Amino acid sequence: MSTDRLVDLDEVITRYEPVIGLETHVELGTASKMFCGCSTTFGAEPNTQTCPVCLGLPGSLPVANEAAVAATIRIGLALGSRIAPWCRFARKNYFYPDIPKGFQTSQYDEPLCVGGHLDVELDGETFRVEIERVHLEEDTGKNLHVGGSTGRIHGADHSLVDYNRAGIPLVEIVTRPVPGAGAKAPEVARAYVTELREIVQTLGVSDVRMEQGSLRCDVNLSLNPVGAAEWGTRTETKNVNSLRSVERAVRYEMRRQAAVLDGGGRVVQETRHFHEDTGSTSSGRSKEEATDYRYFPEPDLVPIAADPAWVQQLTDALPELPAARRARLREEWGISATEMQWLANAGALGLVEQTVAAGASPADARKWWLGDLARRANEAGTELGELAITPAQVAELAGLVDAGTINDKLARQVLDGVLAGQGGPAEVVTAQGLAVLGESDELVAAVEAAIAGAPDVVQKVRGGKVQALGALVGAVMKTTRGTADAGTVKRMLEERVLNG
Ligand SMILES: [Zn+2]
Repeated sequence: MSTDRLVDLDEVITRYEPVIGLETHVELGTASKMFCGCSTTFGAEPNTQTCPVCLGLPGSLPVANEAAVAATIRIGLALGSRIAPWCRFARKNYFYPDIPKGFQTSQYDEPLCVGGHLDVELDGETFRVEIERVHLEEDTGKNLHVGGSTGRIHGADHSLVDYNRAGIPLVEIVTRPVPGAGAKAPEVARAYVTELREIVQTLGVSDVRMEQGSLRCDVNLSLNPVGAAEWGTRTETKNVNSLRSVERAVRYEMRRQAAVLDGGGRVVQETRHFHEDTGSTSSGRSKEEATDYRYFPEPDLVPIAADPAWVQQLTDALPELPAARRARLREEWGISATEMQWLANAGALGLVEQTVAAGASPADARKWWLGDLARRANEAGTELGELAITPAQVAELAGLVDAGTINDKLARQVLDGVLAGQGGPAEVVTAQGLAVLGESDELVAAVEAAIAGAPDVVQKVRGGKVQALGALVGAVMKTTRGTADAGTVKRMLEERVLNG
């Protein structure tokens, strides 16, 4: 349990300006590793996807993976970075069991992509996050600490290492320090990672599964006393593995660091661990300086000099990026930035787009996904996209309502049927007899029965109390189990009672 003293967030921002910085690691979805031909498939038996190169055995020589270089350049292009005409890999020396070579092949002062920015929208406000660099490196292996209760090394009986992950291409996207977000700093950090994840997903270069570690975030935070000329000392919270945790980690560090500074203390420059269960961070190791790593250019690899014509080809082949797509859809659907943000936050954007493509109006598509379906997903504790209904089925449902075959109330019953696996909307309507009755014999009989059964109500209506007709409408709806269209019933009753 954490014993840190914390300051309320509202109070933090009266005295301090938070400065965030994010380092995001994206494991690329290439078929083979960064410097050898080993497979990158997730979840294989430990140490079955290794070779002399990724185990760092003497005499083995690495060769750079062209697909990984292309993917990194594409990420850089999507962020508006400059692509270096010439750059090198560098050795980052440190000893750790998951680094069998004793160094990580990374990039140091010559990254593949430099500069750029990513705009994130939050409550109608745009925050520009400047990108420092996008570089390419290799992932480490994975330590498994056995015997302890926490899975951490402390208290473990022994540790095992799985080198399957060692050498998988990893892109690191580093932002410049981001001041100016104030109280919104936690949300801006989350929105940035969300947007970045969407861009990488759109590029198709990684599956960006945070829970499997293919997208991981280190969250830097420092506080500047308001008006101070110097920047505060930052901490780096490592391996934050969900979007929600990014937001929580920033918030926690803001509150903790403010308490340290308020008490006259000094923030220690260190790496910290994030704890999912409590939302707190705890001290890791004191942060190394770049010089501790004794970086030097990797002598076993040739420099990368991307042919400008190839970079141009990659630029021309970029897909429509998320921000451009949202702007286009907003225009097409005639909705506000806030409405678009709701759709995106609910994870409904793609579903609504596909529903519209299947023939529904944008308004109907949004209504069903953000309304009844969002509620059902919420109740079931699942994502919208995991509900047992397809966009085409939602479009079909909207079509049935439009055609007057069913009304909104019946449509909800049809939804239940579809979600329960009883078939498509039209099949459920037929199987359960849920179609709205036209002016059929059955409906005429029900209307006449209602009139015959309530002579007192008929009297009142004829005497001028027209609103009493509602009781008769209710009676007909009950007999027909809601399959009648209320407007039709009312009209049929009026014809017979008032003109009868
Ligand atoms: Zn290998």
